[in-house]
Amino acid sequence: MTRVAIIGCGVVGAAIAYELSLLPNLEITVIDCHQPAQGSTQAALGVLMGIISHKVKGRLWRLREQSIRRYHTLIRELEAIAPISFNRQGILMLCFPGEDMAQWEKLAATRHTQGWQLELLEPREVRQRYPQLGTVEIVGAVHSPQDGQVDPVVLTRALVRAAQGNGVRFRFSEGVERINYTETDSGKRCDRLEMTGGNLAVDWLVMSAGLGSTPLTAGLESPVEIRPVLGQAIHLRLETPMGNGESQPVITGEDVHIVPSQGGDYPVTDYWVGATVEFTGEGDPMKGDPALLQQVLQRAIAFCPDLASGEIVRTWSGLRPRPEGQPAPLIGPLAGFGNVLLATGHYRNGVLLAPATALEIRQAIAGS
Ligand SMILES: Cc1cc2nc3c(=O)[nH]c(=O)nc-3n(C[C@H](O)[C@H](O)[C@H](O)COP(=O)(O)OP(=O)(O)OC[C@H]3O[C@@H](n4cnc5c(N)ncnc54)[C@H](O)[C@@H]3O)c2cc1C
Repeated sequence: MTRVAIIGCGVVGAAIAYELSLLPNLEITVIDCHQPAQGSTQAALGVLMGIISHKVKGRLWRLREQSIRRYHTLIRELEAIAPISFNRQGILMLCFPGEDMAQWEKLAATRHTQGWQLELLEPREVRQRYPQLGTVEIVGAVHSPQDGQVDPVVLTRALVRAAQGNGVRFRFSEGVERINYTETDSGKRCDRLEMTGGNLAVDWLVMSAGLGSTPLTAGLESPVEIRPVLGQAIHLRLETPMGNGESQPVITGEDVHIVPSQGGDYPVTDYWVGATVEFTGEGDPMKGDPALLQQVLQRAIAFCPDLASGEIVRTWSGLRPRPEGQPAPLIGPLAGFGNVLLATGHYRNGVLLAPATALEIRQAIAGS
């Protein structure tokens, strides 16, 4: 058996654990100093902007496409075990005056040739279909029916359960304090983890520790710099569903998302709104600027006026792991190491890119 250790059980580590659990002859252990989905993942809105993104080629498009494709099978596999809050109504992107609609037409044509679908809507059609939209001035909208949204915490827990069912061991509330390695002719090899609860011998190490990847790699003399970018969001509860209650995609515009929360009763009357993007400096890294959250909320109310009467259920914040000086995410071998794989630094798209990340890690381990 090949021993694989995965450090970090956010959405990325959990997705990797599940994907690897489908391979034979691996003994997989996931370690997290907290319970699952307590890091960046607990704060995410879970919006999966794959097909509607502007990427059309290269690694960043390939990862998005792979993820959306895998999501469509993964959700079915997980739903066989436990309910998953997955919004299948897609994403509605609002387009405002000044927006170049010809660019969207071009993207829709490209997506068509790639086997995906984007639907361009005239303002009148948008308002007819989605009466939850108020009088905000739009020049149209783009509906992406194959993108979606998932509750990141529910998803992560389901992945853990499915992986456990396939024999993966989870060691929660145990931190990795040190990674030991030996020098070989072909480079360095990690061979043992020192953890708060004892040692673990490994053949492969996957680092999906989000912001925790920086101190861990510093100890390996191969530092990977990942910095926090704060995001705040808010949960609102209405008395009745918005619009006709039936058609409730994620509504997005000017970087503000309105996410029907699938967790409660049907039809949905709960909505998540977010998120701010705050490059915090000194002081408490979790303390966001209340004025910025207000701006996001006011923008959301301008899109969907019913939100103004919403009861605030809670507000929250989280830290996105953003690689410094490199494009997100970091997936692949750690420099100088033959058996350490990075799966970290997913910044704003960790939920979207978790399935593709897991497939890349699976390929690296299975193909070795
Ligand atoms: C407000 C907000 C909204 C967002 N919305 C979206 C969205 O709509 N769509 C999207 O795709 N993404 C979104 N994101 C981004 C997303 O949350 C992240 O990209 C994603 O959660 C990263 O997942 P992860 O598993 O890499 O990291 P994490 O969830 O942070 O998990 C890392 C884990 O590693 C563990 N760990 C760290 N160090 C150690 C150690 N030494 N030993 C043991 N364990 C350790 C931690 O305890 C943690 O559980 C959002 C983020 C925020 C803050």
